Amino acid sequence: MTQAAEGVHTIDTGYGGTERAAVYLVVHDGRAALIDAGTPRTTRAVLDGLAQHGVRPDQVDWILATHVHLDHGSGAAALLDACPNARVRAHPRGRPHLLDPERLVTSGKTIFGADRFERLFGEVRPALEDRVDAIEDGETVPVGGVPLRVLHTPGHARHHVVIVDEAAGVVFTGDAFGTRPARMAPGERPFLLCSSPPTEFDPNRALESIDRVASCGVDRAALTHYGFVDGIAAAADALKRSVRAFAQIVEDACATDVPDDALDAFCLERVQKALADQLAWCAVTPSEDDQRRLRADVRMNAAGLAHAVRKRRRA
Ligand SMILES: [Zn+2]
Repeated sequence: MTQAAEGVHTIDTGYGGTERAAVYLVVHDGRAALIDAGTPRTTRAVLDGLAQHGVRPDQVDWILATHVHLDHGSGAAALLDACPNARVRAHPRGRPHLLDPERLVTSGKTIFGADRFERLFGEVRPALEDRVDAIEDGETVPVGGVPLRVLHTPGHARHHVVIVDEAAGVVFTGDAFGTRPARMAPGERPFLLCSSPPTEFDPNRALESIDRVASCGVDRAALTHYGFVDGIAAAADALKRSVRAFAQIVEDACATDVPDDALDAFCLERVQKALADQLAWCAVTPSEDDQRRLRADVRMNAAGLAHAVRKRRRA
């Protein structure tokens, strides 16, 4: 019988294409945790990933949701079915959405359209109430003999957490430490892009959370989208620059009388400019493939900023 491979492993869920969304597998002392759940459509890929690393589904003790956005949390019910000993932990504000995904599904269908939603996610079922617990800031969960520490990191969403594995020297950052194309060639500075989707993006909290990540005691971040970033301090500086540029777009839009229905176009143009500026500042040259990946992020980020402007106008 194969033995579970100790340490941290990347499972490519295949969500939206190759190397766009990871689920991380953490194995200590023959017990396992999954960081994020993927979607109902990616459950097979996650289970194949477990097998590849010699982990049986009954060795999984935890499914730790960085947040409950559909690309991260919608597969929780399906994974619980497959992993008989696993329990889900999520931010207290995120837990209700795992038990009743209705609102996330409705807004997802608006964002993606019904057909694309069906292809990306399939049927999003509620997770069983007695297998999902809230997790507080600073709480730890044991994987074998190793504690994983959870930090609340609002900004990308109010219910976002990161998970620190000091033994492995990795912090799993979900979308709180930005995103980056998987195979982008290195430049003079580490390239990271702020992730500001609808509907809860808050740049000030995002900046605070980046500082929390930067001072959590490890030097390697594992991004859901996508892969490992070494040298957290320099990466945090680069990312904060991107967050501030997005915050400025919201300020500028609020200071103009651009009508509500033109805000998406206004923000899209500005986000594209901010991306170009960030690429130039980092001195990275994106490949065709990198550019395709970035374009999808840019659209989602612009929609989130436009949403933030509308919210401010109504406040
Ligand atoms: Zn995401």
